[in-house]
Amino acid sequence: MNHVAVGGGTGTREVEAVVVGAGQAGLSSAYHLRRAGYVPGRDFVVLDHSPRPGGAWQFRWPTLTYGRVHAMNALPGMELTGADPDRPSSEVIGEYFTAYERAFDLRVRRPVHVRAVREAGDGRLRVETDAGVWIARALINATGTWDRPFVPRVKGQETFAGRQVHTSRYPGPDAFAGERVVVVGGGTSAVQHLLEISRVASATTWVTRREPAFVEGPFDEERGRAAVALVEERVRDGLPPRSVVSVTGLPMTEEMRRARESGVLRRLPMFDRITPEGVAWDDGRSVAADAIVWATGFRAAIGHLAPLRLREPGGGIRMEGTRTARDPRIHLVGYGPSASTIGANRAGRAAVRDVRALLSRAREGGRDGRGAGPARGSAAGPRPVAR
Ligand SMILES: Cc1cc2nc3c(=O)[nH]c(=O)nc-3n(C[C@H](O)[C@H](O)[C@H](O)COP(=O)(O)OP(=O)(O)OC[C@H]3O[C@@H](n4cnc5c(N)ncnc54)[C@H](O)[C@@H]3O)c2cc1C
Repeated sequence: MNHVAVGGGTGTREVEAVVVGAGQAGLSSAYHLRRAGYVPGRDFVVLDHSPRPGGAWQFRWPTLTYGRVHAMNALPGMELTGADPDRPSSEVIGEYFTAYERAFDLRVRRPVHVRAVREAGDGRLRVETDAGVWIARALINATGTWDRPFVPRVKGQETFAGRQVHTSRYPGPDAFAGERVVVVGGGTSAVQHLLEISRVASATTWVTRREPAFVEGPFDEERGRAAVALVEERVRDGLPPRSVVSVTGLPMTEEMRRARESGVLRRLPMFDRITPEGVAWDDGRSVAADAIVWATGFRAAIGHLAPLRLREPGGGIRMEGTRTARDPRIHLVGYGPSASTIGANRAGRAAVRDVRALLSRAREGGRDGRGAGPARGSAAGPRPVAR
């Protein structure tokens, strides 16, 4: 992605908090900050490197219609009603986020790419971007995963003569008309790609590392809670999170049942090699392919936090709620257990509750766990904003 600095100069600005990312998690955080009395643009700033409102939804493929997303929760304070289920979710959610940012006057600055967050030297944080520097006492990181697609390494990958596409660049099924397509991955995206590509391709092959777990019955709250608890446990232990979706299994739909009967959802284990002509297994099997679609997931896009050394030896970031255990100034929302629209909403609220406490401790001249610098703003704290 090309990040262009626009507007507002490139000087150093001071705020109480910076929110990085204006997807569901970032907007929920901004909403709660504003509700707590922090003024957008003055007390906190939301930075996002994408060109338009919508978070990662703006990049999702056109055939992912609003009716096909499984459990989209509205942002706090504004319902999303009456959307046409046949319209692309990128459009529906893009418009909804646009209206939301406007209604709550959140003043998201875009496109602004956050390159690095490091110590400012006075107990505050230095947020370095392609549009200048912000100094802040707290940072709510809401950068999602879309910008860090994950493709496993496979022997011979670079020799493949056909096309390789990750979900993040999936162009929709028509691009694969008449082709032999291998879809890799055991999640919802893989299944959705397969169902639609199989209608136009000459052949499809589904490959997954583990046996896919199809789940019958509705995906109710109890199941959601159990899945979130599993991911929560990992991040509490400082392990890299697995996606919530990876622990929920694949909720069976009528369309999937039909595809299973027709053989589209017959799965092969992960191949051992990629050849110029396709994919191959060490037992002698091979499948010829014109394209490989990698629906192999994403990782947290948090490279800009590297200077803060938040990682544990296990490779993950140990979390206490939304706060990182190593640095109480940093919150990760939409991360690990809160990487769903409902989780992102709740994480935004929880992070703001904690940031408020941290900022008021700093105002009272206390230390914020890393040593707070001189408090900025009036002793009375942030002014309330009319909703
Ligand atoms: C294909 C797909 C379908 C999904 N469907 C559902 C669903 O139906 N229901 C559900 O609950 N969840 C779904 N999810 C999960 C979904 O991603 C989350 O629920 C939620 O939308 C993520 O919100 P977010 O705010 O964490 O991240 P995002 O929406 O990814 O927003 C992150 C924002 O941060 C910005 N950003 C990233 N890095 C930087 C940087 N360095 N500097 C500045 N800005 C930056 C990006 O531009 C982006 O706008 C789906 C995920 C995928 C991949």
